[in-house]
Formats: sequence, C-alpha cells, structure tokens
Amino acid sequence: MTTQSLEIMKCTHEKQKPNVDELAFGKYFTDHMFIMDYAEDKGWYSPRIIPYQPLTLDPAAMVFHYGQTVFEGLKAYRSKTDDNVRLFRPKDNFTRLNLSSDRLSIPPIDEQQVLDYLKELIRLDKQWIPTEPGTSLYIRPFIISTEPNLSVAPSQSYKFMMILSPVGAYYAEGMAPVGILVEERYTRAAPGGTGMAKTAGNYCAAYKAQEKAVAKQKAQVLWLDGKEKKYIEEVGSMNVFFKINGIVHTPELSGSILDGVTRRSVIELLKSWDVPVEERRISINEIIDASETGALEEVFGTGTAAVLSPVGELLWQEQSIVVNHNETGALAARLYDALTGIQTGAVDDPFGWTTVLEEDE
Ligand SMILES: *Cc1c(COP(=O)(O)O)cnc(C)c1O
Repeated sequence: MTTQSLEIMKCTHEKQKPNVDELAFGKYFTDHMFIMDYAEDKGWYSPRIIPYQPLTLDPAAMVFHYGQTVFEGLKAYRSKTDDNVRLFRPKDNFTRLNLSSDRLSIPPIDEQQVLDYLKELIRLDKQWIPTEPGTSLYIRPFIISTEPNLSVAPSQSYKFMMILSPVGAYYAEGMAPVGILVEERYTRAAPGGTGMAKTAGNYCAAYKAQEKAVAKQKAQVLWLDGKEKKYIEEVGSMNVFFKINGIVHTPELSGSILDGVTRRSVIELLKSWDVPVEERRISINEIIDASETGALEEVFGTGTAAVLSPVGELLWQEQSIVVNHNETGALAARLYDALTGIQTGAVDDPFGWTTVLEEDE
C-alpha cells in the first residue's frame, strides 16, 4: 500500500447542529465523511474527505445480495475543561476491522494511515463533538463490497467509509440495571462462523430474539453457545462479566465471541486493581447455582456504546433471577467511573489508552 495524499473537499454550508438533549444514538451526522475505493489492480486509492452525502450504487452491488461488509464503532470525547479531543484505543478498532475483513475475504486497510485520515476528519468536524457529561462523537468506519455482479464470490471492488455521529448520554437518567432474557432457541454465532467479526449479518440475525426479549419486558438477550446451548457468550451486542464470590469471570474468546475493546480494558483494569479475573467457559447452570447459593454478586455487559451496563435480572425458563437486588454493583460503578474518567481525560491514563488529537500534526 502506498501513501497517498488525502484530498479534502469542504462543504459549502454547514448543517444546523442538533440540541444536545435530542442527540440519542446514531441519528445525526456531521458535515463531512471519509471515503476511499478499492480495485484489484490499484489497491485502496483516492482517499478523500467530502461533504456528507448519499451514495449511488449499482443495484447489483454485491453488498446488497450476499452481505460482504464489515464495520467498527469507537468514540471521540471532547473535554469541556481543556477543549482536547481524545480517542480511546483507536488502533485496536482498525486492527479488529482487518480481522473482520479477513473473515469476510475483504482486503485489509493500512491501520495507521486510516487512523491519520480519521484524525483529519475529526479535526474538520470538531465543533460537532458535544462536551456535556456522557456525550461523545460516535465513529463508524465500514467497508462495503461494490462490484455489480450476482456471482457468489468475493467482490473485486470496495468502498471504505467513515461517518461521525454526535451521541447523547447513554445514561441520561443515571445508570440503571437492565433485565435480560436467556435465549434458548435462537443462536447469534456458531463455532467456525462469523461471531468474532463485526459483520452486518450477525446483527440482523439477532433481531428475532431481541423482539422476544422486548415482548417479555427485557432489554437484551443473553446468548448461549450455538452448539450445546449451555455456555454463555454475550449479552446483546456486549461482552458479559459475572462477579462470583469476589472473582470476576468472563467468557473466553471462543471464536464466536467479539473481542471487545471495552472487555479488554475491563480485564486490564481489574488486574491493575488486584481483582482476580478469569477468562473461561461459563455455563448458564453455574450462574443459576451461584445465584441460588448467594455467590452471584454482580453481572454487567461492556461495549463502546454504553461502556458498561449492569444487569439486574436474568429471565431463564420463566424463572426470574434477581442480581444484587436489581441495583448497580460497587465493582460495576467503579469500573464505569474509571473507564469514562480515562476516556474523557478527567483522570490520568496510566495505560496509555487515549490518543489526544493535536490541532495540526
Ligand atoms: C462491538 C461489539 C462488542 C463490544 O466491543 P467494544 O469494542 O467493546 O465496543 C461486543 N459484542 C459484539 C457482538 C459487538 O458487536
């Protein structure tokens, strides 16, 4: 891959920015976007920042038919006090994008170069980053296959894009535990499948189970393994942690679980606090037993969107299992404060996780 100069076409008029209380998640987009193309003979070419706009694609573009596409999600935070913009472990997201791409037979991007393009894009749209507590700029890098061809085979052309969306505080009314439905019929991912990749098909395949959960007044689905329906995988689109008798347990990376950046950060934080943490196979029966003996202390999910989401109830075969009196646990609260403190620059970052965006590099 050759270094190519980035072309920048600025918009001629800026869009009106929404009020901070209207933001929600992924509803508004900034003035600019990044795009580059891929062709077999050229590799990735023509990197450019252009005004945010719709795409024109051939109806036969492969992405519409066989779903050869991958995405990422990360956040930039803007501090009210020093006006700095901070990215949280952005290299990890581009490394993971390439892992997802590899699984979907999509050509890799240059991780460092794409991070530099992202920084340029954010500099241009910096005024869109909200500064109120809990708010951030959600960054969505993604790749679609564009070759107009109905053959079931990898595309010969692609587009890589990055769009930016100011998002509101996830916990506008304070952090509250959610109820989750243990899903016994539908599967999110199977051994040898695409569970470790952020690819579109994994997410729409989960809607049916999510509908079931909502019908039972639960916020999310707890996914069990696709083979035996016995071992815990994830909660919704988050990784999951269980505190049992003072030890924190999380499912090991089995190949059908997403290797979350937040998961990784939680494990590293716990180790730095000398809280024992184990990555291993965890069966749902073990969790039910632990709740019956009173050993199950806390359950929480982790992911970029919410950072951390406490679980107050598990619905398992019509049996309701209440966790920690349906209250946010002390460890969950401590982890949330530590992570968001580092992300926003409110506290020191001894791990070197944050990248501060310089005005001109
Ligand atoms: C993105 C994602 C996660 C969380 O990953 P983070 O890097 O922490 O945001 C967990 N599970 C699934 C299925 C995901 O798509």
